[in-house]
Amino acid sequence: MAKMNSPMPKPSTSNVASDPQSPPADPIRVGISRCLLGDQVRYDGQHKRSTFAAEVLAEHFQFVPVCPEVEVGMSIPREPVRLVGLGTENIASPRMVAPKSGIDWTEKMNRFCQRRVRELESLELNGFILQQKSPSCGMERVKLFGPKNQPRSVGVGLFAAELMKQYPLLPVEEEGRLNDMSLRENFLVRVFSYSRLRKLFKQRWSRGKMVEFHSQHKYLLMAHQPAALKTLGRLVAEIKQYSAVDFRNEYGNQFMHILNQKTTVKKNVNVMQHLMGYLKKVIGSTEKSHLLSLIEDYQARLVPLIVPLTVLQHYFILYPSSYVEKQVYLWAHPKELMLRNHV
Ligand code: SF4
Repeated sequence: MAKMNSPMPKPSTSNVASDPQSPPADPIRVGISRCLLGDQVRYDGQHKRSTFAAEVLAEHFQFVPVCPEVEVGMSIPREPVRLVGLGTENIASPRMVAPKSGIDWTEKMNRFCQRRVRELESLELNGFILQQKSPSCGMERVKLFGPKNQPRSVGVGLFAAELMKQYPLLPVEEEGRLNDMSLRENFLVRVFSYSRLRKLFKQRWSRGKMVEFHSQHKYLLMAHQPAALKTLGRLVAEIKQYSAVDFRNEYGNQFMHILNQKTTVKKNVNVMQHLMGYLKKVIGSTEKSHLLSLIEDYQARLVPLIVPLTVLQHYFILYPSSYVEKQVYLWAHPKELMLRNHV
């Protein structure tokens, strides 16, 4: 996983295989709050099974389950804990307290989180799905209590905070937010992209491999933040001015930052119009106007993105372009995930 000061793994000595259409040889490991897989580890002995994670994503990822509360030594069932610190100077580093018994878990939990998150590095996670609102796992808007017990939803779970601190580039999302299709798509695009980036930097990479990787992601990056694509392209063009470590860190930071920006209808239309440019000499005016009308329907939110994209893919199968066929944008994730399928 990405560390603050060394975002990407060091290069090793084998060759890079970066064809986005080939199935990944290694499993894509993703961390997950254990209760989301249906394990009865919650304070009340229940679970929070996520059907999407346990049945759909499990087909594509190898999950690494973590339950910070059970692993730190809390029993099942147990007295629930809460974060306390509102109205004090401790708002950024709250205490974890069981309110009835008064047991303070803060030091133990913080020590556990630092060690457990550090240990996860060897598993090379490509993302993490967290249970929302939990004082351990919640990524945001966790209840933070003040001296008079009045809560405000401004806290971050202790495990989640440590995870995001140690691995700032790691794609992290809450399970509940994955019900929003655009957040789901953004998270999954980041997980698959992070996995490809890690794979590139894990092996022996050269300027040529880097240029190839960057050019394969050109239209995917354009669909997220077109303006930043130029800056990243400049970085690749000036690769010789950097040490391997500095380049890896800078490219990794910028690459993941760009993908963190949401795509929009306007950005996708722009990308598809660019891609259509590669077809102008091979398709006739009837096909062209049909494709344009589908893009307009997408722009008017009458059809989902998958509709014009499928037709574009069809034309690139009929009239292959060696440059376009490697574009990750066209084949960004397995079709079984049914992304780009909402209006
Ligand atoms: S939210 Fe986190 S700490 Fe709570 S039961 Fe689930 S995995 Fe365990």
